[in-house]
Parts: sequence; structure tokens; C-alpha cells
Amino acid sequence: MVIVLSDNATERDIELICERVRSLGYGVNVSKGVEKTIIGVIGAKDEHKLLLAQQLESLPSVERVIPILKPYKLASREWKKEGTQINVKGVVIGGNEVVVMAGPCAVENEESIMLTARAIKAANAKILRGGAFKPRTSPYSFQGLGEEGLKLLYQAGKEVGLPIVTEVLDPRDVELVSQYADILQIGTRNMSNFPLLTEVGKTRLPVLLKRGLSSTIEEFLLAAEYIMSRGNHRVILCERGIRTFEQATRFTLDLTAVPLIHELSHLPVIVDPSHGTGRWQLVPAMAKAAVAAGADGLIIEVHPEPAKALSDGAQSLNIPMFQTLMRELAKVAEAVGRSI
Ligand code: PEP
Ligand code: MN
Repeated sequence: MVIVLSDNATERDIELICERVRSLGYGVNVSKGVEKTIIGVIGAKDEHKLLLAQQLESLPSVERVIPILKPYKLASREWKKEGTQINVKGVVIGGNEVVVMAGPCAVENEESIMLTARAIKAANAKILRGGAFKPRTSPYSFQGLGEEGLKLLYQAGKEVGLPIVTEVLDPRDVELVSQYADILQIGTRNMSNFPLLTEVGKTRLPVLLKRGLSSTIEEFLLAAEYIMSRGNHRVILCERGIRTFEQATRFTLDLTAVPLIHELSHLPVIVDPSHGTGRWQLVPAMAKAAVAAGADGLIIEVHPEPAKALSDGAQSLNIPMFQTLMRELAKVAEAVGRSI
């Protein structure tokens, strides 16, 4: 917290403020500049800062008090030093293992989801993904199979023995999707849908929260805070690319987010190289880079026949490509002291 003194503050005023701050048990650091004197308050607790700031600002010798507060708390590393591990039916996200989630953008039919589920499990993926409610940019694009898609995904996960992650788009569907999903996904377009965040915050299911495509890291962590403030602390953050001036890729995958969020927050961070690039050719390199950067997991779109996919075929790996990538990822993980 920083106290900026008025131009007319006297030595006596400075002493009085320092005494008051010390009497509360905090340290002071006085810095006298040519034009301004500022007093740094050391060790003030976040919960006391706002009140103290208001009290000090009432003094005529004080021009302004700047309480240096992170706007999020439950999601912050200050609040919880050790990294959070989220156990989903025995699969731990945020531990030493890099957890790979894979599957189609959208669940399309039983045969295709079963085939994909078996193949990704055999390749060592730990969680099956698939959209049943799809947030499509155009209202004329395939919107997903709805509850029928949830049933097919649930069945496929159960048959091969993988937990499932699927998106919930609407606060009114949280209860329905929760009956099937092991992890609730909040898509990029809904990161700032506060009623939806509040609703998933009331459940006790892990939430895979994707970064808004135009959101800052601070806004992203505040969205996590929304969920956590409702009592659900099982939030997995996902960097999935942001909008920039660049048109050559679908989005710009901000891999800096991985080490940066690990510094700011105790929550696990995973990366989506499929939406982050929009082109299957770029997915393997960015997946490997994400693991090298310290990602706790990946979410990758895989389709048995990308050329026939009803959504996101251009960014989906086919099964042989996914198998090859998994072998390569294991080596990168080992090189950075982790496993897959
Ligand atoms: C998805 O995972 O299929 C999806 C729609 O992702 P995003 O919200 O990141 O676009
Ligand atoms: Mn998709």
C-alpha cells in the first residue's frame, strides 16, 4: 500500500502517519522526492487495506492512498502457495503427469465417438472430450446433438474407462450437463458469462475454464474467482488462443500465459493447441511447446475423418497423427521432468 502525501504535508504530519501505521503492526518506508513524499506501508493484510486506505485518505496531509491489491484472491498464489491438484476419477490434473484430453470437436454419432474414444485411450489420453452443445459463430452451423450427444459421450467414456469433459453453454443446462459430465467446460465465448460462472460455481464438478478470446490474464483469473467464490474451487484454466491482428492462424496461442499464470495462481493450466491455431499442421508443434512451457495438460481435437467432420475439421488431428504426437509428447514431458 502506498500513501501519497499532499504538497503541504509537514514533517510532523509524516511522523504522525508513520506512528499510526507502525501502531497497527506494519512497517513503513518513507521516500522523499523533489515534489512528492510517499510512504510505503509494508505487511498490511489485504482485508485491512481498503479500510485503512479510507481512514488515511480522510487526513488533510494525505493526497491519495493506493492499496496494492490483486483483484482476485481465491485464485491467487498468495492465497494458496502449493499448486492445486484436481482429481477426476483418479486422473490428477496439476500433478507431475501432463494430462492429455482428446476427442472430436462435436459428438456426431455413436460409431465415430466410440472409435475415437478407443483410439485416444490406446494412445494414452486420459480424458475424452466432445461437444454436445456447440457455440457456433453462425446460427446455421451444426449446433451439436444436445442431450443425445451427452448420452453418446457418456456411454463412450464409460465403455473405454475415461472421464469426459463437455461444454455447457447456458445456465439453464448446468443441471442436465452435470448428470453426464465429469468436467464442465466453459467455452471462450462464455468466459464472461457471469450467471453461467455462478451456476457452475454452485456445482462440485471440476470446471475447465477457457480464456476469453479477447480477455486479459487478469480478467481470466477473475472469471475463475467467480466460480471459486461460489464454493467450487476445482477450476482448470485453459489457454486457447486470443484474437490479435494476425490472420494467418485462427487465433494467437499465448503460451506465455502458462508460466505467467503459474506465477500468479495455484490453479492448473492446460493448453488447447487446436483452437489456438485453427490448423492441424500447427497443432503438434504447439502441443509440444505447451508441455515444454510447463502446461499441466492439453486438450486436442481428434477425429477419425477430419475431412468429414461437422465442425473444426481443419484443426483436428486424425488418429495416426494423434498417436505419433503422443509418442513425441512423452519425450518432451520427460525432458522437462514430467510424465504423460
Ligand atoms: C471447443 O472446445 O470445442 C470450443 C468451442 O472451444 P473454444 O470455446 O475455446 O472455442
Ligand atoms: Mn472445436
